[in-house]
Amino acid sequence: MTDTLDSTTDPLERQANSGTAGDEVTAEINAWLETNWDPDLTVGEWWDRLGNAGWSAPSWPSQWFGHDLSRDDTLKVQKAIGKHGALGAPGGLGLLLAGPTIATHGTDEQQQKYLGDIVTGRQGWCQLFSEPGAGSDLAGLNTRAEKDGDEWIVNGQKVWTSAGHVADLGMLIARTDPDQPKHQGISYFAMDMHQPGAVEVRPLKEMTGRALFNEVFLTDARVRDDAMIGGLGNGWAVANTTLAFERAGLGAGGGSSHGSAATPGTIVGDLERRAGDFVSGPRSSGGGGPTAMLGGAETLLIELAKNAGSISDPTIRQELMKLHTLNELARYGNLRQKAEKAAGRDMPGAGNLAKLSMSAILRLSRDLGLRILGPMGTLHAYDNDARAKLNEATGNPFLAMVTELALFSPGPSIYGGTDEVQHNIIGERVLGLPKEPGPAKGTPYRDLPKNG
Ligand SMILES: Cc1cc2nc3c(=O)[nH]c(=O)nc-3n(C[C@H](O)[C@H](O)[C@H](O)COP(=O)(O)OP(=O)(O)OC[C@H]3O[C@@H](n4cnc5c(N)ncnc54)[C@H](O)[C@@H]3O)c2cc1C
Repeated sequence: MTDTLDSTTDPLERQANSGTAGDEVTAEINAWLETNWDPDLTVGEWWDRLGNAGWSAPSWPSQWFGHDLSRDDTLKVQKAIGKHGALGAPGGLGLLLAGPTIATHGTDEQQQKYLGDIVTGRQGWCQLFSEPGAGSDLAGLNTRAEKDGDEWIVNGQKVWTSAGHVADLGMLIARTDPDQPKHQGISYFAMDMHQPGAVEVRPLKEMTGRALFNEVFLTDARVRDDAMIGGLGNGWAVANTTLAFERAGLGAGGGSSHGSAATPGTIVGDLERRAGDFVSGPRSSGGGGPTAMLGGAETLLIELAKNAGSISDPTIRQELMKLHTLNELARYGNLRQKAEKAAGRDMPGAGNLAKLSMSAILRLSRDLGLRILGPMGTLHAYDNDARAKLNEATGNPFLAMVTELALFSPGPSIYGGTDEVQHNIIGERVLGLPKEPGPAKGTPYRDLPKNG
C-alpha cells in the first residue's frame, strides 16, 4: 500500500508505536544476518538457524522461539531479511495459526513438542475445520472422535482444507460428546496426516487453475490423547482462538496459506534444497498464489493504468482515489486498534472490521484492474508456463496477476468466516442486536435437526 502520509507526524501512528525500539531491532537482525545467512545452506538448515534464533516468529514470547516484538518491529525484521536477500521464515498455517493457538492453549509438553518444528519449518500444518455440512455453522460439525485407550478414533469428512496436500499435521476439530450442546461437545487435536488409508487427501482444482485446497476423508484415523489441545470439550474455545488469529492475519493483508517461497514440512521436499535458490529463483509448487499481490494492489494498478494510457481518465483516477481512501481507512483502523491495545483497552469487532475492509479493497482492486485491462482481461493462464507465455505475447507483465486476482477474489470474503458471518458477529457481539432465532442453546447435538 502507498503511504502518502508522513508517519512521524501521524499522532495515531506515534501512539501505536510508542515503546518500540525499531532501529535497534533492525540493527540486531542485520548483524545476525551478516554472520548467519549463507545461500548454500539447505532450506532446512537455514530455517533451523532462523527459527532457533527467534527470527521466524519474532512476536512470539522469548521462551518460545520469539523475541516478544510488536507487530511493527516484526515487519521490520521481515523487511530486513528480504533486503538482505535471505530466505524468509517458513510461511503457512503452522506459523500463522497452529503456533499461536498452541502457545495459547497447549500444555508445556505440547508447546515443547510442536512450536520448535513450526518455527524451523520441519512440519507443515493444515486446518481441518470446515465440513460439507458445517462451514458458517462450524459448531454443527459432524466428524466424530471416539476414545479407544490412550487414543481417539476419528471418522468424518473435512473440506476446503488449504495446504492439506502438503501438511504433516492437521488442526482437527471433532465431536467427542454428541450428548452435549453443539458448542460444548467438541475437542481440538493435532492430528498426524501421515496415515495411509485412514487420512485420504484429494485436491480440489479452483477456477484460477491452482489447487490450493482439498477434501480430506478420515476413516478410523487415530490421534493420541496427549495431542488434544486445550482439554476435553474445550475445542470450540480453542478453535475460536485459531479463527481470531486467522481474521487478524487476513485483515492485515495476509493470505490463507501461502506466501513463503519455500514450502515447510516433509512432503514437498524443499527442506533438502539449496536456500539461495528460493530467493531469486522460481517459487516452489506450494508457494505463490493470488494473495501474494494483495498488499501491493494499489501501486500495481497505478502502473497498469500508466502503461495502458488510462491514468488521465478522470473516472479511473476517481476509482484509484477510492481505493487509496479504503486503504488509508484500513491503515487507520489498524493503528487505532494498536493504540487501544497499547493503552490496555480492547476494540471489540476490530478483527471482523479489518477482514471486511480487506474484502472490499480486494473487490475494488479486481473491478478496477479488469476495467483498465479492457478486453485483455478476458485472457487467463492456468499454469506457470502459460502465465509466462501470456505475459510475453501481450507484453503486459501484470495481466496474469490481475486476472488471477479477479478469479480468486470471491475467496477472501468466504474463508475465515464469510462477510455475512462477520456482519452477524458485529451485530450481535458489538452492537448488542438480538441473536438469530434457532434451537435452544442447551439442546444436545444429538437432538438437533440435521441436513440430509
Ligand atoms: C479459498 C478458501 C480457503 C479455505 N481454507 C480452509 C481451510 O484451510 N480449512 C477449513 O477448515 N476451511 C477452509 N475454507 C472454508 C471456509 O471457512 C468456509 O467456506 C466458510 O466458513 C463458509 O462455509 P461454507 O462454504 O460451508 O458456506 P455456508 O456456510 O454454507 O454459507 C453459504 C452462504 O450462506 C451465508 N450464510 C450462512 N449462514 C448465514 C447466517 N447465519 N447469516 C447470514 N448468511 C449466512 C454465507 O455467508 C454464504 O454466503 C476455505 C474457503 C475458501 C474459499
